[in-house]
Amino acid sequence: MTYQNFSLKQLQDIDAAHHLHPFTDHKDLRAAGSRVITRAEGPFIYDSEGNELLDGMAGLWCVNVGYGRHELAEAAYAQMKELPYYNSFFRCTTPTPVLLSKKLAEIAPEGVSQVFYGSSGSESNDTALRLVRHYWALEGRPQKNIIISRKNAYHGSSVAGTSLGGMAAMHGQLGGAVPNIVHVMMPYAFELALPGEREHDFGIRAARAVEDAILEAGPDNVAAFIGEPIMGAGGVKIPPPSYWPEIQRICRKYDILLMLDEVITAYGRTGAWFAAQSMGIEPDTITTAKALTSGYQPLSALLVGERIASTLVDKGGEFYHGYTYSGHPVACAVALVNLEIIEREGLIERVRDDTGPYFRKALAERLAGHGIVGEVRSFGLMGAIEIVKDRETRERFPGDGAAAVVVRDHAIANGMMLRATGDTMILSPPLIWTRETIDMAADRIARALDLAEADLR
Ligand code: PLP
Repeated sequence: MTYQNFSLKQLQDIDAAHHLHPFTDHKDLRAAGSRVITRAEGPFIYDSEGNELLDGMAGLWCVNVGYGRHELAEAAYAQMKELPYYNSFFRCTTPTPVLLSKKLAEIAPEGVSQVFYGSSGSESNDTALRLVRHYWALEGRPQKNIIISRKNAYHGSSVAGTSLGGMAAMHGQLGGAVPNIVHVMMPYAFELALPGEREHDFGIRAARAVEDAILEAGPDNVAAFIGEPIMGAGGVKIPPPSYWPEIQRICRKYDILLMLDEVITAYGRTGAWFAAQSMGIEPDTITTAKALTSGYQPLSALLVGERIASTLVDKGGEFYHGYTYSGHPVACAVALVNLEIIEREGLIERVRDDTGPYFRKALAERLAGHGIVGEVRSFGLMGAIEIVKDRETRERFPGDGAAAVVVRDHAIANGMMLRATGDTMILSPPLIWTRETIDMAADRIARALDLAEADLR
């Protein structure tokens, strides 16, 4: 049975009847019908009506090598024929997670050399939370278990991921978070810097909110700080350059572990394998997923620093944690070839030296001056456009994010897939974008902004 035997309407009706979607208002979905994406090639996705869309989100921040990579399909096929599955429990392993772990240890930041696999970012953040608390228990300090995070952070949608995250709407539906997680201010200068406050000073102030939380809880009770190097789903919030060095200093001072969530930023997006390398951060754990396989297979990897790993090994005892699909041989086979493609095609260097700077320039020169744009910002191939009613005062349009949805809908109608979160448009394209693709995106977004402005004013 193939989907080609079904009309668009039939697929939408079946979808509405049986399929509950992530992060979706199902009443709206049923009224509007779903958009059925049926194929993709290079930087483009195609829907069931044959519309071509330039994918400004790399799927969901993940398809870094672009669509249509037969090499990845062949890697999966070959592995499935030879060994489709075996677990890595009970002192077993299979070849591909072994080789992938070696590769990850080679490209990871200094001092990070161990890998624990899952199938999603949420799962790996769950692993990270458990591992960090287990570490302090092994060190004889089980009371050191508070995790400090930020408001509006996104660390996934499982109970642990939601608890670590700082999204108020998600917490509102949680019915009780994992205990001992506290949230401090985010480093978001556009809304939170004081009038006249310099970017540098704002970065230090935002980092010191972490120190205040540590002192309030007592350093002996705090296990770790967790943060996305650049807050992604929260709106591509790029901290001032002063922020991370100050966080690092504070963590060292109070002996607090540093957990980085690089689910979006790892594997090239910032112009280095990891944002930790772009920003000079020295983490104890790095959560990664998404672009590890460019989304061709579900796979996540928690990279673990030697401090935690050596305690785990030296103290011994079983860590009662793991997933059926930890180290899945097919997903790991695909990841190995995906990383090889990123390397062979020089995609990281391209982001760092060419497309990243060009993307920044295109946003600044083509979109920043628009009548409803309050700020543009980017880092590597991650970007944000703030939608405002008044460029001077930064007053937003009424309706809590409704204006950004208008922009998004015009963008999609004009062949450009991008995302709206709150009043912010976000972009996270495949790393295969060229200068020409960036120009095409800027044209389409500029047109969407014009049409949205006409609607909104
Ligand atoms: N952490 C970050 C920073 C993310 O952006 C995401 C997903 O977007 C996750 C964790 C959760 O990953 P997953 O959806 O694979 O569970």
